[in-house]
Amino acid sequence: MVAKRDHPYHGRRAVLASMHGKEAAFSGPFMSELGIELSAAPGIDTDQLGTFCGEIERVGSMLDVAERKARLGMAIAGCDLGLASEGSFGPHPQMPFVPAGRELLTFIDDERRLRISEALITETNYAYARVETMLELEPFLARIGFPKHAVVVTPGREGRALSEGAPVFKGLQDLGALKRAMAVCAKVSDEATACVETDMRAHMNPTRMASLAALGLKLAQRLAALCPACGAPGFGRVDVVRGLPCSACDAPTEWVIDEVFGCASCALRETKGREDGLSHTEPSQCPWCNP
Ligand SMILES: [Zn+2]
Ligand SMILES: [Zn+2]
Repeated sequence: MVAKRDHPYHGRRAVLASMHGKEAAFSGPFMSELGIELSAAPGIDTDQLGTFCGEIERVGSMLDVAERKARLGMAIAGCDLGLASEGSFGPHPQMPFVPAGRELLTFIDDERRLRISEALITETNYAYARVETMLELEPFLARIGFPKHAVVVTPGREGRALSEGAPVFKGLQDLGALKRAMAVCAKVSDEATACVETDMRAHMNPTRMASLAALGLKLAQRLAALCPACGAPGFGRVDVVRGLPCSACDAPTEWVIDEVFGCASCALRETKGREDGLSHTEPSQCPWCNP
């Protein structure tokens, strides 16, 4: 790790492509870890790349969308350093019934031709409910942390996309407004229900904003590490090697045995043992001892 003032990004400006106030999560770590001054791209419309509420479908992988978004911000601000994040929400890969957010943050350096990303899987309050009455909705609202966390209301529909021109009420944090939105949506719904879901836009969801701050720190720390061979920022973990042996039979398991660190600019790769020093797994994790 180099001293911050000797880092190539110290004192530089970077642009963040976000309409949803994500600079509140990322500016702090980018300044403290790198000395980068981050600002939001003025007047950017990232909705043209797709929206959470499904009126505009997102095309391509999360990484594709994040990169396109970052480049849009860079073009608007005339800046060769850019940043954008993408999130998706669904069931947790390890814990069934727990909602998870997959957050991706991508940094682009056009001058050095670098694209460096970090990702995070976190617990979220992502949820939805299809309801007819306010009474049915109360436990849901308590669970998701309303009104600090806003909700989106659309007409109830079973497993179908929203029809064109359907009402969509976003960013609701007031009980009266929520009731009115539910009434409008139930009226046009085939099932006479309204679908109430968590508003996952960062400025409407403090839980998500906290996850993004943790991700911002992770990426800023990654960028702070320079490649020992060529000096490019962003030296970090690029791959893992599986096959940690079982403590009973020594057979390789799916557990990680080595971590591979690499540079985003040159071909340098370094393989290191696990950071936690673990040399074997329990037989319960072994495909032979515990098939
Ligand atoms: Zn075994
Ligand atoms: Zn390098």
